[in-house]
Amino acid sequence: MRLEDLYKLLFDLYGPQGWWPVDEEYHKQKGTDKREEIIIGAILTQNTSWKNVERALENLKRYGELSLRFVRYTDMDKLKELIRPSGFYNQKAKRLKDVASFLDPTDKVQSVSREELLKVPGIGKETADAILLYAGNRLNFVIDKYTQRFMRRFMNIDGNYDSLKKFFEESLPKDIEIYKEFHALIDEHAKRYCKSTPLCGECPLKRLCFSAGPSF
Ligand code: SF4
Repeated sequence: MRLEDLYKLLFDLYGPQGWWPVDEEYHKQKGTDKREEIIIGAILTQNTSWKNVERALENLKRYGELSLRFVRYTDMDKLKELIRPSGFYNQKAKRLKDVASFLDPTDKVQSVSREELLKVPGIGKETADAILLYAGNRLNFVIDKYTQRFMRRFMNIDGNYDSLKKFFEESLPKDIEIYKEFHALIDEHAKRYCKSTPLCGECPLKRLCFSAGPSF
């Protein structure tokens, strides 16, 4: 199956996911930059669920400000306290401060190279690609553990981060909306059906899946 067809299939199943979610109203009222919410969220989501990230973002909105300027200049202990719900808060507070000073001004996210971004402490490939794609609107496909698991099972492609990224980027049309949606759609499918213990019997893709045995 062509990747583009898989994308259309998932899109028909789950509809637009609208990633990355941002609080447009908040930024309108505060005059803050929604790209900064994406950058902050991309750090906070490391090794935790999105629910926990939302709690940390809510704290920043309520007791601080959802901006890189706030993250950069606020007291370290206060920042740790606010982002505590996202877990690993000592590490993440330091990472947030590093990325906030690196991406100043925020427009730098439109021009910084992936290699430069990867040199910022705590920014791995997935975080860098998420920042470039969703905050920078730049064609960088994001791979995560869900994508790796799903591609291994569904298409029998057992790739590492780099080989899968290359595969997606070489196979898909150069369309930023497809990049954004496809990543989110795969995650949605993985969370609903292609879990660590897959729910193949109920999976809408079972007839097309390499791993779904005859019993499914
Ligand atoms: S049939 Fe099973 S392994 Fe295949 S995509 Fe669905 S849940 Fe995943």
